[in-house]
Amino acid sequence: MRQKKQEDYLDDEFEYSNKSQRKRTKKAFRKKKDKKRKSPIKRFFTKLFIFSLLIIILSFAIYLGFKGYVFKTLCSQMFKNSPSIIYDSNKKIIAKIGAERNRDNVSYDELPKNLINAYISIEDKRYFKHFGIDIKRTGGAIFSYVIHRGNSSFGGSTITQQLVKNITGNDSNTATRKVKEWFYALILNFSYSKEEILEAYFNIIYTGPSIYGVKEAALYYFDKNISDLNLEECAFLAGLNNSPNSYNPFSDKDRTEKIRKRTKTVLNQMLEQNYITNEEYDNSISNVENGLNFKQGNIEYDQTLSSYHSDAVINEVISDLQKKYFISNDFATNYYSLAGTNIYSTVNKEIQSILENELKNSKYILQSKDSDDTSQAAIVIIDPSSGNVVGCVGGLGEKKNYRSFNRVTQMKRQTGSAMKPIAVLAPSIDKKMITNVSIISDEPTTFIDYNNKEYKPIDYDPYRGSITLRQAVETSQNIPFVKIMETLTPQVSIQYLKKMGITSLNDNDVNLSLALGGLDIGISPLEFAGAYNTIANDGIYIEPTFYSKIDSSSGELFMKSKQKKRKVFSKDVACVLKNLLIQPVKGEKGTATYCSIDGIDVAAKTGTTNENYDRWLCGFTPYYTSVCWYGFDTNESIEFGGKNPAGLIWSSSMNKIHANLPKKKFELTSNVETAIVCYDSGKLATPNCKNTYKEYFLSGTKPEKCIIHNY
Ligand SMILES: [Zn+2]
Repeated sequence: MRQKKQEDYLDDEFEYSNKSQRKRTKKAFRKKKDKKRKSPIKRFFTKLFIFSLLIIILSFAIYLGFKGYVFKTLCSQMFKNSPSIIYDSNKKIIAKIGAERNRDNVSYDELPKNLINAYISIEDKRYFKHFGIDIKRTGGAIFSYVIHRGNSSFGGSTITQQLVKNITGNDSNTATRKVKEWFYALILNFSYSKEEILEAYFNIIYTGPSIYGVKEAALYYFDKNISDLNLEECAFLAGLNNSPNSYNPFSDKDRTEKIRKRTKTVLNQMLEQNYITNEEYDNSISNVENGLNFKQGNIEYDQTLSSYHSDAVINEVISDLQKKYFISNDFATNYYSLAGTNIYSTVNKEIQSILENELKNSKYILQSKDSDDTSQAAIVIIDPSSGNVVGCVGGLGEKKNYRSFNRVTQMKRQTGSAMKPIAVLAPSIDKKMITNVSIISDEPTTFIDYNNKEYKPIDYDPYRGSITLRQAVETSQNIPFVKIMETLTPQVSIQYLKKMGITSLNDNDVNLSLALGGLDIGISPLEFAGAYNTIANDGIYIEPTFYSKIDSSSGELFMKSKQKKRKVFSKDVACVLKNLLIQPVKGEKGTATYCSIDGIDVAAKTGTTNENYDRWLCGFTPYYTSVCWYGFDTNESIEFGGKNPAGLIWSSSMNKIHANLPKKKFELTSNVETAIVCYDSGKLATPNCKNTYKEYFLSGTKPEKCIIHNY
């Protein structure tokens, strides 16, 4: 023991005394080793590389898993092959998605053997042997692609791949898309039996003009039930598959020879692959030579005319599905055309029909002086608290097409003065910069704008000198609003506008003219209505929506409308704004006096853009928010007898919508105080003030007593 201890001691001493020497030997040792092993830095990077590679592989696997799962889930619903149905708020059917497809489902057992064999022999002879992709064919295709350096198509597709194309709507031949198609074909193959895939294929494939599936094709080409098709008729159907329109016997061009040749090719393949006997073959060939017996069956074509509201529903559900599953627009559209979902729209049928009738009225239609165009209009009505769009019409006159251009959602225009409440009033009252009685001088003013250039806005009406904010709102004077914007700054204004759901603003809108609605791109009527609705909905922005939810064909919830919702300002600020925006309707000199509704408070603001290109009316009641636009698609001055046609449409529609609703005023909120004010000075009225009215203030912002009349 003792000895050992001494040894330890000696060791320690050795170590202690030779520290520097040891360091040197260590270094030498390491240098020696370096020749065999990598440096720590190199090792670190090797590890990092392997780790990153694993992460990439793992992410890719997760991505593929997700893609595969989404595809399988959507397919399982799309195999139903029935149109989706859109309901109104009373659960009545109002429109369908995919109704333009004439189709009739057939089960695998009902399919004639000859038909299945004809398709397989000409399209995909190893169908029952491969796993969705035909390696022989695909290998050849890849080889050819590489040889031709990308300038090569990928050749024919298997039946499974063709089904993928019909589902995703992806028909392009780029390499990445082809790889996707292979992947989806594999997913299909391992998710369904060969028979299930064939059944879906025979029901979904395009077979003629608006004709889908083989059952409808049998009716269209031969006026026959599918079970009655003979061998050569089956061969004809299989033959037209690669280009249905070019084999159409009912087209203007003579297709007889083309049809004969193609049908014989299919029969040849069937004989070669032992699907038919020599006798059947000879018999069929002679029938083909004598000409097939085509007879066009009676197909009932669905007109599929939908309202502007339903069109907007369709666009919204497609866009939401795209965002949810990261799929293409075509895939999402096909989904609704095939999956038979039930879509609950937010439309109120009575309101929608009031709007439709209003905009059909020929008295609103102006003829263009420059072209064959006529004037256009768009109107939208929102339920304030839910953000539900209860009615919308996106064009003037009779609607002629399915999913036609919708000016409510798809058009952006200059706004003119209708911008003032949301760009100037809401932010500056929220920031307590101004009250309804703030005195502002309305006189010719030259501003220095953000581009350092002079900006000289003009008033259309005579300048009014020193006026209160309420008076400026009543007649829509321009100078006071630009002055407020100068103090507020366009940057702050834009922050508010963005919170209120305006998405089309950009750096070019950082100008004082923002106050007067001089915009770079403009705003859509829908977003405009959403912004105004923030005031109507007590300071809470809620994204407008055209549908509430979607159920799958089996009745389970598939998707809910997700609306953005955020507080922009307090309900007290909203209360002050509502009672300020009454002024254009109630004021003696108001610009929207014709918009009043008996017994119901109305807040409204007009808008006119340069050269009279656009006319707007934006406003709301305690019941509904509505925005109406009027103008030409290509800018042209509107001459409507000195009147604002947008305002006339708005007023007429809103009066009808409110006809049977109980009388209602905007509610006073807890932190808003009212006071009797002198109209002339904008200060608290004294017994000597003659011209007085009731004004609304955020608590603590009441003015002093009138000094003009207080003698
Ligand atoms: Zn006074």
